[in-house]
Amino acid sequence: MIVTKIRTGIGYDLHRLVPDRTLLLGGVRIDYPLGLLGHSDGDVVLHAVGDALLGAAALGDIGEHFPDTDPRFKDADSKELLASVCAQVRTAGWNLVNADVIIHAERPRLTTYKDAIRESLHTILQVPVDAINVKATTNEGLGPIGRNEAIACWASVLLTSE
Ligand code: MG
Repeated sequence: MIVTKIRTGIGYDLHRLVPDRTLLLGGVRIDYPLGLLGHSDGDVVLHAVGDALLGAAALGDIGEHFPDTDPRFKDADSKELLASVCAQVRTAGWNLVNADVIIHAERPRLTTYKDAIRESLHTILQVPVDAINVKATTNEGLGPIGRNEAIACWASVLLTSE
């Protein structure tokens, strides 16, 4: 008898918006005068998805895997970090079924970028594009996200064993 195990995971990340940084969300370059501050490239979407995957596989969090005190990860390409997380999750015997993402940003408006972010996640995560969903919401002008001081992201994933 084949027993399929399932696991869910959630991930969250927030980075501060600052001048003179390239804004990257889900590995997609966004045309905007501010970018996300971080030891790596600050891509909150890829970090949240990575944490969701690690959480579901009970493999810790991305801060443990890629410490911000380690110079190897200075300005790191988060696409490579997420690909590494995916490889570890697969090696542990898990397959990604789907990922659902909520990007929390007052500005820029991300409607025209959602499909590109979905395509990018599909490429990095190596799952069908219809297994990825990307949503975007504002914070109705409230709090640090509403004041456009930061962008955050939530992600959830479902994993199954063979
Ligand atoms: Mg981060």
